[in-house]
Amino acid sequence: MNLILLGAPGAGKGTQAEILCKKLGIPSISTGNILRAAIKDGTPTGLKAKSYMDAGQLVPDEVIIGIVGERLEQEDCRKGCILDGVPRTIAQAEAIEKAGIRIDAVIAIEISEEEILRRMSGRRVCEACGSSYNVEAVPPKVEGLCDNCGGKLIQRKDDTPETVRERLKVYHRETAPLVDFYAERGLLKKVQVADNKEATNAKILAALGLDL
Ligand code: ADP
Ligand code: ZN
Repeated sequence: MNLILLGAPGAGKGTQAEILCKKLGIPSISTGNILRAAIKDGTPTGLKAKSYMDAGQLVPDEVIIGIVGERLEQEDCRKGCILDGVPRTIAQAEAIEKAGIRIDAVIAIEISEEEILRRMSGRRVCEACGSSYNVEAVPPKVEGLCDNCGGKLIQRKDDTPETVRERLKVYHRETAPLVDFYAERGLLKKVQVADNKEATNAKILAALGLDL
């Protein structure tokens, strides 16, 4: 099963991708996490991506298409995968179609702008594995440390209020059109965020017609 998680920054795509990955037994592919790892490792891709990400802009389509193409060829994706944060433009969606990747469903996570701004200020991510937390809503068991790997939790450079506003603008301009793109293909399932990550996940599974 190949799934796409669509939604504004802060909608909780990464958190839901992680839960779905465990429940469905297929890997989640987060272009944001792949890019942050590349920056940390100082790879050529990371060097190219950094200035765009810090400014809240999208990394060029050809870079993303290359990353995703390479990742999908790996063995663990044979049974399917969860695409988290990609595609983010019509060009990326078309590239996925052209590559012959069959998408089974697209979950559009809906959230108000007010809630986004509140969530982003409290967001912390694990420096080592990319898991995300929220100091208020989804705190780690031990303050400042990742539940999954014990890594240090940090605030992302692009989670400052100005950059968040820019990312929201970019989302409305570049990514929101994908809602219609996938609705036209009969793949779209809209899910409104719920009170907590488990409740939101239950709604996603229900939308997929899964009982897990
Ligand atoms: P969020 O969903 O909270 O915005 P991500 O981790 O998905 O966070 O993305 C962080 C940044 O990485 C984006 O603002 C963008 O610069 C870059 N990025 C991630 N995925 C893509 C993509 N598919 N296309 C272009 N840029 C991307
Ligand atoms: Zn971690």
